Amino acid sequence: MSSIYDKYEPVIGLEIHAQMKTQTKAFCKCSTNFHNSPNSNVCPICLGMPGTLPVLNKELLDYAIRMGLATNCSIREKSIFARKNYFYPDLTKGYQITQYETPICYDGHIHIKLKDKSEKRIGITRIHMEEDAGKSIHDFSDSETLVDFNRCGVPLIEIVSEPDINSSEEAITYMQKIRQILVYLDICDGNMEEGSLRCDANVSVRLKGSKEFGNRTEIKNLNSFKNVSDAIETEIKRQIEATENGEKVVFATMTYNAKDKTTTATRSKEQAHDYRYFPEPDLVKVNADEAMINGIKSKLPEFPDDKLKRFVNAYSIPEYDAEILTSGKELSIYFENVIKELKNKNEKAYKQASNWVMNDVLKVLNDIKINIEKFNIPEINLAKLIDLLLEEKINKTVALELFEMMLTMETRDGQNPEHLLKEKGLEQVSDTGEIDNIIKKILTESPKEVERYKGGEKKLAGLFVGKIMRESKGKANPKIVNELLLKNLEAL
Ligand code: ADP
Ligand code: MG
Ligand code: ZN
Repeated sequence: MSSIYDKYEPVIGLEIHAQMKTQTKAFCKCSTNFHNSPNSNVCPICLGMPGTLPVLNKELLDYAIRMGLATNCSIREKSIFARKNYFYPDLTKGYQITQYETPICYDGHIHIKLKDKSEKRIGITRIHMEEDAGKSIHDFSDSETLVDFNRCGVPLIEIVSEPDINSSEEAITYMQKIRQILVYLDICDGNMEEGSLRCDANVSVRLKGSKEFGNRTEIKNLNSFKNVSDAIETEIKRQIEATENGEKVVFATMTYNAKDKTTTATRSKEQAHDYRYFPEPDLVKVNADEAMINGIKSKLPEFPDDKLKRFVNAYSIPEYDAEILTSGKELSIYFENVIKELKNKNEKAYKQASNWVMNDVLKVLNDIKINIEKFNIPEINLAKLIDLLLEEKINKTVALELFEMMLTMETRDGQNPEHLLKEKGLEQVSDTGEIDNIIKKILTESPKEVERYKGGEKKLAGLFVGKIMRESKGKANPKIVNELLLKNLEAL
């Protein structure tokens, strides 16, 4: 059934603000540490006292250029800062230092992978450097607002996309990719709860097939993937319904209310800010010459897409595995360390390592909600466990049992699976004589089932295998069990 919603195509452009992991602020030497007590990371410069002079933090310039290079941007050799004038209680200067007409990076793009596995190019209009404002805190009291200036002057880059995004799903995939690149470049911690990554979403709709864009609205300050997705969905729906009712969508700045899933306009065009941008007179021109850019290029880490391809080629694992394993930088390092520690180095071993990290390790991380950095099994011990399995010293059941034990143990030596195996007497039994005895015992104990098996109920073999494995306390080598069981049954 077709609905009114199917007639329209959404058009979306994102402005992503990423907080840079520099030691100090954008234009002064104050610390950027998020956890310091309120109003302790401040000085006359970031508080905007008259007569003070800002100086650009070279690390910020370096980071912005890294992001530009990673997203195929051109880097501008000479750029300037501008003052964006507006009043806000947490902006003591009365203006924000940003870049306006000459962003440091421009004309870039990245590729995102869509659900149907096809790739889509999303243009990056510009990346510029700017400073953050302070933080107003309204929820301590009903009558007072508190303000924390620690965030004043904290360096940000703003990454502005072209309106190339056509669904909330694409918007999330794009944002995840941007986050992944930032984290790989080691320039942003990507922590959305702490506000290190925030997004403004520009949304418009147009009739499918139409060449012209509709009027956009801009939803400000979305701080989780879920909110980005929900806000865009809500706004698309609102715009389509308005258009169908004969109303015109007009530009407005919106806020998203996650509680009742609505978008509301806070400012319309008429009330739009006139920021009176002008060149920041207190800062010199930003120089980014070829030598400097080449220097930064030579220090760039491997990009996530390149790592993905390398994993597929070097370890012959499926692209699906490589995608998950490279989704986080630390996870990709963990996986590769496991591979390095493996004694067995072949495709089968690499696939085993991939399965363990992708399934068993990730499941634990999800269950107890921690990052791989906090995971208590070091690579060497997981590699030892995988080697034991590959060498058929244990079977998968025992491997999982050992893995569970390892999870509860603190020390690297204590959880060494080779030791645990000996201590607990869990070594796999491959002794054919021993296994044959167990099989004979089980078959004599189950005369009725044996009769039915001989009568043609071949699937009863599974039942025998279960009983035999239990009798061996899970230690029997399943391959040998299967072989010997068939021999025994045929001989009956
Ligand atoms: P502003 O400062 O007014 O927000 P920017 O140029 O910084 O303007 O950002 C504009 C953003 O809006 C870009 O991400 C761009 O892709 C997006 N955009 C522009 N036109 C449309 C449109 N018609 N529909 C949706 N997004 C749009
Ligand atoms: Mg904007
Ligand atoms: Zn300062």
